[in-house]
Amino acid sequence: MKANPVVLITGASRGIGAATALYFARHGYDVCINYKANQQSAEKVAEQVRRVGRRAELVQADVSKEADVVAMFQSLDKLFGKLTVLVNNAGILKPQMRLLDMDAQRINEVLTTNVTSAFLCSREAIKRMPNGGSIVNVSSAASRTGSPNEYIDYAASKGAMDTLTVGLAKEVAGQKIRVNSVRPGLIYTDMHRDGGEVNRVERLKDKLPLGRGGQPEEVAAAIYFLASDQASFTTGSFIDVAGGL
Ligand code: NAD
Repeated sequence: MKANPVVLITGASRGIGAATALYFARHGYDVCINYKANQQSAEKVAEQVRRVGRRAELVQADVSKEADVVAMFQSLDKLFGKLTVLVNNAGILKPQMRLLDMDAQRINEVLTTNVTSAFLCSREAIKRMPNGGSIVNVSSAASRTGSPNEYIDYAASKGAMDTLTVGLAKEVAGQKIRVNSVRPGLIYTDMHRDGGEVNRVERLKDKLPLGRGGQPEEVAAAIYFLASDQASFTTGSFIDVAGGL
């Protein structure tokens, strides 16, 4: 019997990461669920994956830390012995602030969590994809808007991630590894509470051409498409999942 493909999703204990775990499971993947702190919530996601008949394992790691990332991939080796898809999903949004009030600690925390993590996880993933594979980065519509006066640190981290997508796609194309990106915008998740505005999606949704906020599952569908063979000729590309923003 052919072994199931394996996806590793960072920051998968809630929100878009959790929805992506379930989406891949429904499409036949075994799932490696990374979480930073909320083991209970990650365990619930794992239970949902198991309920659809797929294998789920948890791996704790702060993906902004190199030693944690290396250890996480060593755990993946032991648990699954292979990797088909990496989804660089983990990210943070800090409360709104203008640049004049930002200190280096905040800026570095956002950059290391949102983009250094993607460099490190991609590096380790590539080593484990001798026969090809796929990496999907979860960027943001903010990489195009710049999010002035509130989240420019976050927007810049996603801009760097977009450039990583393009450069890495070319760097590893010869190894049959595709690298793509989704750029969500205004999705109903707890990230906006962390960003200082619980009702952000409700407040801004009418400004979107589609007139509503997005659901995590709608982002998961785009991530899955880019990772899958349906997108076999697509690399270094972006899908905006942002209601026309
Ligand atoms: P979320 O806050 O629910 O999920 C983010 C996840 O990342 C959480 O599970 C969190 O624990 C995890 N995480 C944070 N730092 C981590 C670390 N150092 N190590 C490991 N895990 C860590 O928010 P979400 O909306 O589901 O966000 C998922 C991704 O989507 C993020 O990259 C975010 O920037 C991006 N995004 C979200 C929106 C939106 O409107 N919700 C829009 C654009 C982009």
